[in-house]
Order: sequence, then structure tokens, then C-alpha cells
Amino acid sequence: MPRIDLGKRRLLTSAAAMAASGVLPTWRRQALAADRYDAVIVGGGTAGMPAAIFAAERGRRVLLVEKAPLLGGTLDRSGAQTTAAGTVFQKKLGIKDTWQDHYNDIMRITRNTAEPILTKLWTQNAADSLNWLAGLGLKLVDGSPTTGGHEPLLIRRAHHPVDRARQVFRLMEPLVKKAEAAGKLEVLLGTKAVDLIMDDGAVVGLVIEDDTGAVRDVMAKNVVLTSGGCMANPRMFQELHGVPLHCMLGYPFNHGDGLILGQAAGGFLKGGDTYCPLLSHVLDDDQVPSKSIGAMIPETHEHPPWEVWVNTSGERFVAEDHPSKAHQERALGRQTAHRFWAVFDQEVLERSPPVMSGWTRAKYDEAFAGHPMFTKASSIHELGARAGLNPHVLGASLADYNRGIAEGRTDICGREHRPVPIARPPFYAIQLHGYGLMSWAGLAADQNLQVLRRDRTPIKGLYAAGEVLGRGTFGDSYTNGSGVTPALTFGRLLGQRILNFEAA
Ligand SMILES: Cc1cc2nc3c(=O)[nH]c(=O)nc-3n(C[C@H](O)[C@H](O)[C@H](O)COP(=O)(O)OP(=O)(O)OC[C@H]3O[C@@H](n4cnc5c(N)ncnc54)[C@H](O)[C@@H]3O)c2cc1C
Repeated sequence: MPRIDLGKRRLLTSAAAMAASGVLPTWRRQALAADRYDAVIVGGGTAGMPAAIFAAERGRRVLLVEKAPLLGGTLDRSGAQTTAAGTVFQKKLGIKDTWQDHYNDIMRITRNTAEPILTKLWTQNAADSLNWLAGLGLKLVDGSPTTGGHEPLLIRRAHHPVDRARQVFRLMEPLVKKAEAAGKLEVLLGTKAVDLIMDDGAVVGLVIEDDTGAVRDVMAKNVVLTSGGCMANPRMFQELHGVPLHCMLGYPFNHGDGLILGQAAGGFLKGGDTYCPLLSHVLDDDQVPSKSIGAMIPETHEHPPWEVWVNTSGERFVAEDHPSKAHQERALGRQTAHRFWAVFDQEVLERSPPVMSGWTRAKYDEAFAGHPMFTKASSIHELGARAGLNPHVLGASLADYNRGIAEGRTDICGREHRPVPIARPPFYAIQLHGYGLMSWAGLAADQNLQVLRRDRTPIKGLYAAGEVLGRGTFGDSYTNGSGVTPALTFGRLLGQRILNFEAA
């Protein structure tokens, strides 16, 4: 767990208490009184933008603080594959779907590990989010909805926007501007939440700091943490998920601030232990986080592998052609450092499509000529030694694979596609790593998205939406759309109906 420095928080908490009791100088009390909001939203990305838009529509005083110099957060890079049941897009294609089927599909894929209350909340309300975006003009790519890019859904409910999440951002941004122009919403860019102000166990405000270092208190009836996960904080990611952040693909301002703030208020984190990697990237070097230089073709049904996969010990660990992505991802999640090698021979190199997505033979040759993640050798023994794998175990794994083909017996991992033995020198190994797109560790929250203490009591005045809730909440496997869709939906629900503007 990351250590939380409570020194400053205690100081500021007591400053707020002093203000309330009249101990602070007059100028300070006036500042606190003037900066009083119905809601302060922390982070203007996927969840924060709809939260601010809908809260402002209710005609109250709302503040959105955003650490980056611009709004949007992860919407600048996300695929925005969005899943929902009963959308106008599905209806147009005659696809019949219900939120219960969506919910059951998630439970099927995650083997009932998704948290029922929050999963129900987002699947029940996801169609309204998609239909709202449709009303704003959302365009989908041809053929969408599909059964999704991760473990296939049973029904076509994965919606793929043209230009990915950037389109979603372009649709929401004018609404933020409109609310600002109408005086219903204040937006502070380049401003970060650095602490929560608490009074008698309840969150009553926030300490914010702008990019000049100026700090001020703002009081609020509701504070909403929509500050994303910790995908730009390798130390925190590793501590919470037990595996290094191999490459940084997330939004560079998401340092896990909301996870710290939520804990400082009494909340707790969960879900990091369910973390599951995606298959798979080649890193530029071993100094993680490193740069990805390419991804493996993940569609094993479209590209049944010719190579074999071995773990750090040189052992095979999963059927390389297994039809379930979730099964393969979970198997990789059990391997040391989520690292494995794709091993093949000259025969496979010449006859099969490349392991790497979109790579040409020339690019392959260049990589095998000297890149540290690509090893070529004249024997299996030498390949193991050069790649850093136990040569004897690697040799035994390949010998068993080859014998299985020769004898026509069932493969040890249950693999069915075994076109050729791995026997013709030279031999090749590509080192691959599982990777993540989201933090799985997040704050626990109840059905009102109110942050929970360990004893399951809600922290008054503190709400959370988006990746700050973690992906682990939605189960131990990737399910299509379970990042963007709950973020948009929970943000919308908070602004539209959950936040209590009448609170004292
Ligand atoms: C490459 C990529 C592809 C993805 N594709 C998909 C997909 O197809 N489908 C899917 O469902 N999910 C996908 N995801 C995941 C999904 O996009 C994210 O989980 C989701 O967008 C996160 O939304 P959020 O609102 O929690 O965070 P963000 O959208 O990142 O917003 C958080 C905001 O908070 C701000 N912030 C941080 N700290 C502070 C602070 N202290 N004070 C003020 N502001 C702060 C940040 O600057 C940021 O703007 C993808 C993720 C990545 C990285």
C-alpha cells in the first residue's frame, strides 16, 4: 500500500475546524464562505465531464478542478469500446438485449467475481448513457455494435465510436463550455485537488493547488473523485497490483491522487489482487516502465499460433490456441512478472504469419539482428541460455510438444492447432509481457457511489466514479466496455440524481 502523508491533511483539517469555530483570522473565514459549492468534481475526464455537465444542468453551483491544462483525461487515447443493452443503435439493427443479459454475461466472463451492486448499477443505466451520446450525434464504426474486442459477449452490445474516445470528448466538451458560459459551472484547469477538508468524519471541502503553487480551500456539500487510476504512477501501480507497470499506456496525469485522498478520508482500496494482464507487448528494454515496440496478434482464433509459449522457467503454461481470451489472460496473470516467450523455428518463421501484429519480415529480421527482446540461436539449448531461460527445461518443453505431434497424443496444455514441430534450426524467441490499460485497485463504494469505510459505512460528502473505483470491482477478467461505460454512466448518474444538493 502507498504510504499516505497525513501531515498536511491534519493541518488543513484543523484549519477548517478552526474556521468553523471562528479561530481563523477574518480574511480566511471570508475566503472559505465565498468558496462554497454544491459539488466539486475532482478530474475532468471520462467520468468527471458528465458529472459536471449533469450537476450543472440542475442549476446549482458546481466546480470542476482538472490537474491537466485541458479536459478529457483518458478520452484522448481510449478505444471507448462501450457496452450497453437496449441502445438505439442495437434497436436499429433489430438486436434484442436487456440489462439482465448484459449483467449475466459479465458474471459469466468474470466467473461471478464482479461486484453485484455496482455491476447492476452500470448495466441498468448504460443504455441511457449511450442514448444520450446518440442524441448528441454519436457515430459508430460500420458493423458496430459487435461482440467486442476482449472475451466475446453473447450479444452484439459493444459499441465502437468512430475516432474512438476522441469523438465522445468532442460531443461532451461543448456542454461543459455551455454550462460555464451560463454561469452554472466553474472550471479550473491546471488545478489539482491536494487534500480533503473533513469535519466530524464527513468530507466538507477540498484543498486545491493551481500550477503556480497557490493553495486554497473550497467548501462543498459533495466532493466527487473522478481523478482516474494510477496508470502514470509506476510505484503505486506495482504496490497495489503486485506486478510492475510494464509500459505506460494510461493518461500521464493519473497518479492515483484520488486513491490517496479517498484513503485519507477513511476509505479503503480493493481489487488490486484480481489484476489480470492483457496479451501482450514487446518492450524496448527491461527498465520498466518501458516503451512498447509492438503488440502480439491477440486474436488466436483468427491467427492460430504456430509458435509455443513458455514462461520464465521455460515451461508451457496455456494452450496457445485456446478460444477464450479470458482463460489465456488469467493463465498469464499466474506467471512470474506476467512475462513469457514465443518460441519457434525456421520452419514457422517461413510458413506462418508473424507473431507480431502488422510486422513485416524485414522488421523481424532487423529485430532478431540485435534487439534485446529478440533472440536467435542455432540450437534450443543455446536459445535458452541466450534468452535467460533454463535450457534444460526449455528443451524438455519443446521435446514434449514435438513428441505429442509425432505420436498424435493430446497436447499437455490441450492445444489443438499443432501444424509443425519446432525442430528446424535456427531457433527464435520473442520476450513478451502482459500489459494493463487500467488500475484494478480502487476505492470501495456503495450503490450511491459514496466512498465506504472498511466497516462499510459511507463517508458523508464523498463520492467516486470512473477508474478511481478500480476495475477489479467489475471482476477478475477484462470484459468489454467495463472501463469507459461505468465511468460515463456513474458520472452522469451522480450529476443527474445522486448528489444531494440539499445537504447541510
Ligand atoms: C489506451 C487505452 C484504451 C482503452 N480502451 C478502453 C475501451 O475501449 N473500453 C473501455 O471500457 N475502457 C477502455 N480503457 C479504459 C478507460 O478508458 C478508462 O478506464 C476510463 O476512461 C477512465 O475514466 P476516468 O474518468 O476514471 O479517468 P480519466 O478519463 O483519465 O479522467 C481523470 C482526470 O482526472 C484528472 N486528475 C488526476 N488527478 C487529479 C487531481 N489531483 N486533481 C484534479 N484532477 C486530477 C486527470 O488529469 C484526468 O483528466 C482504455 C484505457 C486506455 C489507456
